Amino acid sequence: MNRSDSLDKLNKVSQWDIIIIGGGASGLGIAVDASKRGYKTLLLEKYDFGKGTSSRSTKLIHGGVRYLQNGDITLVIESLKERGILKRNAPHLVRDLSFVIPSYDWWSNPFYGIGMKIYDLMAGNLGLGKSIMISKDETLELIPNVSKKGLRGGVIYHDGQFDDSRMAITLALTANSKKTALLNYCSVEKLLKDEDEVIGLEFEDTINSKKYKIKSKVVINATGVFAEEIIRMDQPNIDKMIQPSQGVHIVLEKKFLKSKHAILIPQTSDGRVLFAVPWKDYVVVGTTDTHVKTASIEPKPLKDEIDFILKNASKYMTLKPKRSDIKSIFAGLRPLAATSNKKSTKEVSRSHKIDIAPSGLISVLGGKWTTYRKIAEDAIDAAISINRLKKKKCKTEKIKLVGFKKKVDWNDPMHVYGSFKRKVQSLGGLDDNRSLSKKFHITNNIIEWSILHEMALTLEDVLARRTRCIFLDAKESKRIAPKVADKMAEFLDKDQKWIDEELKNFNKFIKNYIV
Ligand SMILES: Cc1cc2nc3c(=O)[nH]c(=O)nc-3n(C[C@H](O)[C@H](O)[C@H](O)COP(=O)(O)OP(=O)(O)OC[C@H]3O[C@@H](n4cnc5c(N)ncnc54)[C@H](O)[C@@H]3O)c2cc1C
Repeated sequence: MNRSDSLDKLNKVSQWDIIIIGGGASGLGIAVDASKRGYKTLLLEKYDFGKGTSSRSTKLIHGGVRYLQNGDITLVIESLKERGILKRNAPHLVRDLSFVIPSYDWWSNPFYGIGMKIYDLMAGNLGLGKSIMISKDETLELIPNVSKKGLRGGVIYHDGQFDDSRMAITLALTANSKKTALLNYCSVEKLLKDEDEVIGLEFEDTINSKKYKIKSKVVINATGVFAEEIIRMDQPNIDKMIQPSQGVHIVLEKKFLKSKHAILIPQTSDGRVLFAVPWKDYVVVGTTDTHVKTASIEPKPLKDEIDFILKNASKYMTLKPKRSDIKSIFAGLRPLAATSNKKSTKEVSRSHKIDIAPSGLISVLGGKWTTYRKIAEDAIDAAISINRLKKKKCKTEKIKLVGFKKKVDWNDPMHVYGSFKRKVQSLGGLDDNRSLSKKFHITNNIIEWSILHEMALTLEDVLARRTRCIFLDAKESKRIAPKVADKMAEFLDKDQKWIDEELKNFNKFIKNYIV
């Protein structure tokens, strides 16, 4: 995947079949589906692939235990099916993770035990593993750091775990083909209309400061929390359609969990669930559900949200985390579909809606990472249903994602490259395989690969989404940033002025991730 190839394709095509606005889970999923059905497809992302909500999730490919509690059965069944399909099609990126629900009162074990059995049944033959009830001693053996006071036992169940932004890049690579072009750093500014019909759009390539007007049979708006902004380009007076809800995660050293199993705390002080999940040698703890008025691409964690996570996690952990223990913190915005009744954000369904405007503009509203493939199928079928595209069948249930590899060593940080691992490692010499940090894995050849094949253009692209350094340890990322910038400048053929500018932007950006 290469930016100048995509720009070449752009100049050669006079009318696209599909233009997708937004390069998150939904947009990239639509690009894979469209590309595999054989449509001429262009995807435009304002910043970098996965820069929005899609790099800020809890990293779970799950049916959603909480949605089961809420009685959203259809969403759970759909998500469990998608979980199975995704694990089958990208076994190098999705792994089976076992979760322990510790119980502290007499009814919890039978209650969650039966609930999780129903969850297993709903997954059918796409299930990951059977749930079981365990004793107090077994719970302590699996999670030595769980609070012992009042502990009665626990329930183990299974769900999927993944690396969200690596999945986003993998989808981009899978979509990329002769007929499909993907471009990051391209901001859509206007929709082109012929009478009342949307027939294309205007965008700016912010890297080259160049504007384009392009035509398409259909335009699909997959901009997550920003969907309403695009819809307003078509219908300036519509009612509120998206209700953003912020979720924060903190990242701690693994000594706080000391287990390969995750913990699910089923009842926090605000009636939600809290996860503590082992991830790449660290522990991710979250999340919150805070109503926010306006969407921002770089949402800021609030002091109350940090306190809430620390307080609730401390109730269940023998080693109590403090603010100073936080290695990284990140916030994301859920693109929830707005409802007219006064539900709190935690009650709003996470299922997606496809909106078809009278102009033919198709918009994705809401959704989850887990169901990105179904969202994509529904969005393209919607375009077919209004006769914008020739009918072609969806193929993604059976399509292996780029890098597909069955035998995976989850302790190897290079597993995210799947079958490309050796190719990445063969770039440069022996020294280029040595990590620049002792805390996480980042090497010269990973930097080079990100630039050559994954369209990384900035220091943030490499440290936040091609690798996950910033999401694991923000201060350490800041420390190694000058070395990474030097290497990037070498591969991109940039000068000292570029390095200085990148570091200046980066140091401003990283402040959000440091407590
Ligand atoms: C805290 C949190 C935890 C979550 N955890 C999970 C989980 O564990 N599992 C799960 O399945 N789901 C989870 N989700 C939900 C999931 O992450 C989201 O549903 C999903 O990432 C949304 O993807 P998207 O593509 O719709 O939006 P985004 O990822 O936000 O992508 C939209 C993109 O559109 C781009 N864009 C905006 N305006 C323009 C424009 N004018 N021109 C071009 N591009 C534009 C943006 O830059 C952005 O990259 C979580 C969500 C949150 C907030």
